[in-house]
Amino acid sequence: MRLFPLFADLQNRRVLVVGGGAVAERKVASLLSSGAVVTVGAPEATAEILRLHKQGAIALHHASFQPEWLDDMWLVIAATDNRDINQHVASLANERRLLINVVDDPALSSFQVPSIVDRAPLVIAISSSGYAPVIARRVRERIEALFDHSLGELVALAARHRPAIRQARPDMRQRRQFYDWLLDGPVASALRKHQPIAAEKALQTELQQPQAATQGKVVLVGAGPGDPGLLTLNALRALNEADIILYDRLVSNEIRELARRDATQVCVGKIPGEDHNATQSRIHQLMLEHAQAGQFVVRLKGGDAFVFGRGGEELEFLRAHDIPYEVVPGITAAMACASYAGIPLTHRDYAQSVRLTTAHFSKDTTAEDWVSLAQEKQTLAFYMGVSQLDWLPGRLIANGRSGDTPYALIENGTRSYQRVLHGKLKNLTAQARQHAFKAPSLLLIGEVTALAPKLQWFGASIDAEDVISIPCESTTP
Ligand code: SAH
Repeated sequence: MRLFPLFADLQNRRVLVVGGGAVAERKVASLLSSGAVVTVGAPEATAEILRLHKQGAIALHHASFQPEWLDDMWLVIAATDNRDINQHVASLANERRLLINVVDDPALSSFQVPSIVDRAPLVIAISSSGYAPVIARRVRERIEALFDHSLGELVALAARHRPAIRQARPDMRQRRQFYDWLLDGPVASALRKHQPIAAEKALQTELQQPQAATQGKVVLVGAGPGDPGLLTLNALRALNEADIILYDRLVSNEIRELARRDATQVCVGKIPGEDHNATQSRIHQLMLEHAQAGQFVVRLKGGDAFVFGRGGEELEFLRAHDIPYEVVPGITAAMACASYAGIPLTHRDYAQSVRLTTAHFSKDTTAEDWVSLAQEKQTLAFYMGVSQLDWLPGRLIANGRSGDTPYALIENGTRSYQRVLHGKLKNLTAQARQHAFKAPSLLLIGEVTALAPKLQWFGASIDAEDVISIPCESTTP
């Protein structure tokens, strides 16, 4: 179940609370602070509820639940400790299409009340869809610690100056920059020091500064291999500031969901039938067009932009057109897949060097290149399509690498459905086919990969040699 989040304006709207105990009392207090017109119905009520009634702050039905209490209500909260009564109230409310919350009973509720971090007018609401309120509360505690109480004052200040801000920064992007400055700059810091007048002054001074037209730029961002936890802080910042994000197919959805909500996202992967060079020049044109229009362009690539990512060509193009750029490195597939498969890329005993290479060889690849690739005591990381597995192992063996060299093939590295296949080079082609390994997969070859079964800590691991031996064992008498 996925709930629809909603903030309700209950100002001058009638709300019924069924129940008169401590829980009902808490609900009444928060409803009153939102300006609701509250009626409580219960045969008995706490002293506080009675006092509120006496003061005229709430209406009170001093009786057992009556269906007509629901008349004219917008919302209902059932907070009795009797499930039969709660159920009765819920079914009548549902008949009348009134939204109802039964406290601590998601099955009977049509809306739930979230845990909140209250920095009014800024409110952060957290819900576990009713499944784990304790976890929601823990999350709330963490968020509480992130934002001090001056945040509410900052939002209130921004609200008071909103028309002036709109007028002084008519351009949406300049306005966003202004709000960033508000959140990170001297205004927020003055409010934290309880200096509201200084804060007000700083805001007004800034608003009077004329704004230069913003210059567009491109940030080439490495998104890493898939796990969003592997993004750098700089990558996250760029995603939060972007106007437009040009992303490759390899970039995971979880990562794209971290971007600013109103940034335009364009998939610039290869269009079926289009060749790589046409794809690349389409990307160049898009970067140019948007940066020249003054936009903040994020060019988001899987792994690292400078490792088999054509990042260099993109920068050369930008430089030729005088577009300012920055580069944010990402964790490349070889490093990430090795870590998540428990394979040290170098090891004092087994490998003194690592080669990041690809099985997409150019026609100038020479015999010497193959001989050097086939040498021992080095780790080879192949960035490649799985179809290359048909011939690559045979080629390495033909050039001198032992067929017993261990390998690890990592599919969807760092993602929750990562699979690692390990075995011997001579069996790789058959084993990859048998286990139907698909793209994206990274191939590691070398003595270090023998450590994978021992050091494995993430996702599924398949010992291909072992699997092959199973039928033999079962046929032995
Ligand atoms: N710039 C990227 C590489 C792009 S080339 C980087 O630095 O990682 C694309 C190849 O990278 C794929 O064919 C595959 O071999 C490898 N690759 C990328 N992400 C991967 C992942 N999550 N798991 C396994 N291999 C991956």
